[in-house]
Amino acid sequence: MVTVPSSLYDVVIIGAGPTGLHLAGLLAEKGLEVCVIERKKSVSSDVACAGVISLNTVHEYDIPAHLIRKKMGGVKVLLENGKEYFVDISHSAGVIIDREGFNHHLEQRALCHGAKIVTEARTEGVLENKHCVYITYRHQERQKLIKARFVVLATGSDNTLAVRSGLKPPPVQFTGFHQILPGLWKDEYTLVYYAPSLLGSGFGWIIPEKKSQYRTGILTPGNAPLAVFKEFLRRHNINGNEKNFRPLKRRINQGLSPLAAKGRIALAGEAAGLVKTTTGGGISFGMKSAEILACELMRVFHRGQSDLRSVTTAFASEFHAEIEAGFRIRKVVSSLSLAKVTLIADFISADGIMNRLQSMFKFDKHSTTISEFMDILGKLV
Ligand SMILES: Cc1cc2nc3c(=O)[nH]c(=O)nc-3n(C[C@H](O)[C@H](O)[C@H](O)COP(=O)(O)OP(=O)(O)OC[C@H]3O[C@@H](n4cnc5c(N)ncnc54)[C@H](O)[C@@H]3O)c2cc1C
Repeated sequence: MVTVPSSLYDVVIIGAGPTGLHLAGLLAEKGLEVCVIERKKSVSSDVACAGVISLNTVHEYDIPAHLIRKKMGGVKVLLENGKEYFVDISHSAGVIIDREGFNHHLEQRALCHGAKIVTEARTEGVLENKHCVYITYRHQERQKLIKARFVVLATGSDNTLAVRSGLKPPPVQFTGFHQILPGLWKDEYTLVYYAPSLLGSGFGWIIPEKKSQYRTGILTPGNAPLAVFKEFLRRHNINGNEKNFRPLKRRINQGLSPLAAKGRIALAGEAAGLVKTTTGGGISFGMKSAEILACELMRVFHRGQSDLRSVTTAFASEFHAEIEAGFRIRKVVSSLSLAKVTLIADFISADGIMNRLQSMFKFDKHSTTISEFMDILGKLV
């Protein structure tokens, strides 16, 4: 039997990724009663993410130094035809973080501010009425019911609850595979592999992390099978059949949600499509969206209102340009033959042009570099 709860949370957040945990910390710090519900065993289990973020994000969100595994000096872009190009990103400062440790760090912050976090709890339903939202979840084989004034779905790429709540999930999904492997990768730089015949408009990566291990993964359109990832590994002479090879597969949302909130329910982070359409990176946008949503929630709260509809516009005004620029560049590049891509890459690596693009590249804001690149492309094609 499910008992009707008497207590009322101010905000219940479904999903304890970076977005949900950061939002929980922000709201609890402001004195709200917050509960986070996460289906996994712990907030740091089964995290499918390469953990690449900018040093800016590290500073902006006060990420402790011990969570930084490595600074990224440069990227080697390898095309399917064997051509390779070096991109110096030392000045734009990308870092690789301990991704599990990062989730744990955000969890501790949220707990310190008084948020409650329930793990191994899968949310099954979210039902809104005039006064509150009822949330049903399954925990330790029992069904539980809680209620809240507002609910945030920070559920990453699982769009089930968003659809059930009448919200509109992001329009596109890619597939990601992620694996950490023991051993020494042959290069100190991150490898980015562009191979349209295997990965479409996506790409693969190999990231040396520390002496004894490296991270590898792919991002590719549609619902790709494991065989695609194995082929990527085979092409780089990595044995994908070893005992410790247990890749994590996860979808990645792409494109802004056209309806990220209504009434008392809102999406946030990747659930709202706040993921870079150039790289698939979603941590910094997710954290930013948590801040925007925290402001919107506090405003609505203080005015005694019950409608979060302004959230869709707030997200769009912050992220629309970036997300659309990423879509545009993907569309253009994937319409070109590999021979043309090679020609353009050769031209860009020529003196001056690469330096110009590199100097304007910002890790979390790609739209200006993209429009400069499009200008160059326009003159070439
Ligand atoms: C292979 C791969 C590599 C990536 N590499 C990078 C990278 O290098 N840098 C970067 O910035 N981003 C990267 N990303 C993207 C990044 O991991 C995500 O965009 C980011 O984690 C989104 O954060 P989030 O909190 O919005 O969602 P998530 O981190 O996905 O968290 C959502 C949480 O909600 C929980 N959940 C879902 N449904 C329910 C439910 N019904 N009940 C309870 N809990 C639920 C999930 O278990 C999950 O813990 C990568 C993604 C993939 C797949």
